[in-house]
Amino acid sequence: MTTSYIDIESLFESRKNNPLFNTSYPISPKDWVEYSVSGELPFEAIKPMAFYVHIPFCEQICSFCEYTRICVPSKEMQFRYIKALISDIEIFIRQYPEIKLYGFDIGGGTPTSLCDKAFSMLLDEYQNLISRVLLTADYEPSIEATFQTLSDEKISVIGKAGISRISLGIQSVVESVVNPLHRQNVDATAMKETIDKIHATKIKKVNLDLMYGLPGQTADTIRNDLETISFLNPEQVTVYEFRTNQVGSAFSVNSETSYEQYCLLYDGLIRLGYKSDFGQNTFSKDTGDYGVSSYLRHRMLDRWQYKGFGISAQSMSMNGLSYNIGKNDGSILTQIGFNDSYEPNIYYSLPKQELLAKFIAISGYSGGFSLPTANQIMDGQFVSIYTDVLKFLYDKNLITCSGDRIQISKEGFRYYGAILSMFYPINNIEAYANNQNPSYLHK
Ligand code: SF4
Repeated sequence: MTTSYIDIESLFESRKNNPLFNTSYPISPKDWVEYSVSGELPFEAIKPMAFYVHIPFCEQICSFCEYTRICVPSKEMQFRYIKALISDIEIFIRQYPEIKLYGFDIGGGTPTSLCDKAFSMLLDEYQNLISRVLLTADYEPSIEATFQTLSDEKISVIGKAGISRISLGIQSVVESVVNPLHRQNVDATAMKETIDKIHATKIKKVNLDLMYGLPGQTADTIRNDLETISFLNPEQVTVYEFRTNQVGSAFSVNSETSYEQYCLLYDGLIRLGYKSDFGQNTFSKDTGDYGVSSYLRHRMLDRWQYKGFGISAQSMSMNGLSYNIGKNDGSILTQIGFNDSYEPNIYYSLPKQELLAKFIAISGYSGGFSLPTANQIMDGQFVSIYTDVLKFLYDKNLITCSGDRIQISKEGFRYYGAILSMFYPINNIEAYANNQNPSYLHK
């Protein structure tokens, strides 16, 4: 980067309060059009890989949600979708018979919104698959659920399948926050009963998701959320910032309010005995546990390769990313159940600056990024290429550097999106400076 120190400062200032800069990258799919190629994303057969399976069905369609999902369709459509998924997994396994899995996450959407029979079909395939492949020593599979859809039967099926972590969305327990956003939660006593039932099986960890920065959230509602966490006492908590990139311009966020709410959550969770570094979105009662599944941990911290199955799922290998059909095309959801396969239809072969930007954006969830991984992407040149940026951020106390990590400082976290963006290639993102918001983002 040849940008002068003063240019870096003005660039940073122009992005400081721009909500488009966060952990989402690329900022628009149009930014990667030039890297779109035909063919298949190649994986390195000798390296561990993770699977992610996307179930795009939900019983409620929360208006703040940026994931690909629809209301649960008929049972027939559910079966067809699961059959297509299983077929895609089996085809992939035939291609990579020596595969070693480091993780397996079933997410969505709400996987537990499937009917009992479709859910069992999926979990049978899971068990069948892991009996045929190698697993890393730290392999820790995980599944997403909601309290409304996690029946006793499904808890039992999950436990018997050997899935050791369940992640349940709450977002906020305050009805005046979530109800206007088309979400209902069950009461705290019912949540506690469900968590007790989970703990009575072999499922070792429960994670609860909270959000901050949502319309209607205040310091008082955040305190209510923390009180409920204290009562429920899960092993892990994940906090997500409300991002507006994918949900349109109907919402606006105040970055200062978001920052203050994150600080409240962070301080409250630390007081409750959770461990985390400031700026990190995952919290765990166990010091040796990062608070996520092995898939998310290695994806976020180490940039290990992963393969996504199901509509719109993302896959990544060393040289690029691919997206399955349905990414950026919500209309495809109307065809759910009519496809025999959800294989990728977009493949981006990316230059190393874009690979670095994607890695740093994903690592933003951990409040920083690994220096060795950044160096490896940039052929050992990361520090020399970004010396000016690193010096600027360090001199302004926006980052710290300890050992192998660049960590965003407490003051820097107020502008974490702008800090991450200082490592993005400059050419594509000047249009977003000064909070300009290209109309195509909201089509
Ligand atoms: S927040 Fe969860 S339950 Fe709500 S629409 Fe998104 S995936 Fe479905």
